[in-house]
Amino acid sequence: MDHIDFKDKRVLVRVDFNVPLDENHQITDDTRIKRAIPTLQYILDRGASLIICSHLGRPQKKRLENGDINVEKFSLKHIVNHLSKLLGREVIFCSSTVGGEAKMMSDRLEAGQVLLLENTRFHAEEAKSDPDFSAMLKVLADVYVNDAFGTAHRDHASTCGVAQYFKKEEKGFGLLMQSEIENADKVLKSPKRPFTAIIGGAKVSDKIKLLDRLIEIANHIIIGGGMAYTFIAAQGGKIGNSLCEKDYLDLANKLLEKARENNVDIHLPSDSIVADQFDANANSKVSNSHEIEDGWMGLDIGPNAIMAFDKVLKESKTILWNGPMGVFEFEKFSEGTMATAHHLASVTMEGAFSLIGGGDSVAAINKAGLGEEVSYVSTGGGALLTYLEGETLPGIKAILT
Ligand code: AMP
Repeated sequence: MDHIDFKDKRVLVRVDFNVPLDENHQITDDTRIKRAIPTLQYILDRGASLIICSHLGRPQKKRLENGDINVEKFSLKHIVNHLSKLLGREVIFCSSTVGGEAKMMSDRLEAGQVLLLENTRFHAEEAKSDPDFSAMLKVLADVYVNDAFGTAHRDHASTCGVAQYFKKEEKGFGLLMQSEIENADKVLKSPKRPFTAIIGGAKVSDKIKLLDRLIEIANHIIIGGGMAYTFIAAQGGKIGNSLCEKDYLDLANKLLEKARENNVDIHLPSDSIVADQFDANANSKVSNSHEIEDGWMGLDIGPNAIMAFDKVLKESKTILWNGPMGVFEFEKFSEGTMATAHHLASVTMEGAFSLIGGGDSVAAINKAGLGEEVSYVSTGGGALLTYLEGETLPGIKAILT
């Protein structure tokens, strides 16, 4: 934002206020709002007024029975009081996103005032990056700042389309966007070695591109969670009823082969906590991950795997973590994920750089109460993965072109 003159300008800021709300519309986790505050404050400090826009949930998908948008559930008005508290100033709410009311309210803004527009996704044009809708957003402001890293992988009107109407000196990235990219680049472009990626979660199919790319840059890849069993099955292991994507066995072998060629060590869990059903209170026991009996399924990594993975982490200087090591939502099967969170915090204290990204591993590190003990917790799930996969994010491209 250094190149932008903010004085007396009306600044349209795209933030990611897509926060979870409970049934009473109370915010249950305000991390995303808090992470946008430095950018909002930076712009206000330079004598501008703010026009803030964001999406909240997927109102187009979750329409009411009569086809209407559920305005009450997805309205950004629920954010107003909390945002006002965090900014320490009044936040004016506009119950439309574009059009006459929004234009009139933005025209009246004076330096230091803050206007929050209604959910951008109340308009189907948002997700189509519709040029007319983008132009209607543009007329509200003199300057555009994108700080919504969490949606930077989407080509939407408020994240991309609108940017084309601003000149280079009238648009820029917010501080959150900047730090997200800087931290992702510490892993991607100049990792201190050894660099270890911990990849978990349910499916291999979701993470193929990521694994393929990591095999080109990491020294070690630890694979845990449900996806580990597809790799173990591909190696000829007996995995009982564990998750297995049969269509991906060949691909798993190809990835293992590519890792061998690139001298990347792949670490799979030698043992697992297996359960007799997918249930929080299922019977459980420790099993060799290659010899899981029929009727049993691996729902967490076992004690030997935890120790072996920790040994790799202790030698690492850069660590990326995406995806839980087991079904951590069930207390009984959360130990591998919680131990990983603790080990990550302790190697960070010893000087390693640790980046956590992707919804569930962020939830896990927060569940362990260790969000402050790692180097960087990304606000972007899909956006971070897309960036790590080597793609240019549309939200970034739109500012640079
Ligand atoms: P992802 O969104 O791909 O990172 O997957 C996260 C989900 O994977 C979480 O909801 C976990 O409960 C689930 N998961 C992790 N390990 C396993 C496992 N061994 N079996 C089944 N599901 C798992």
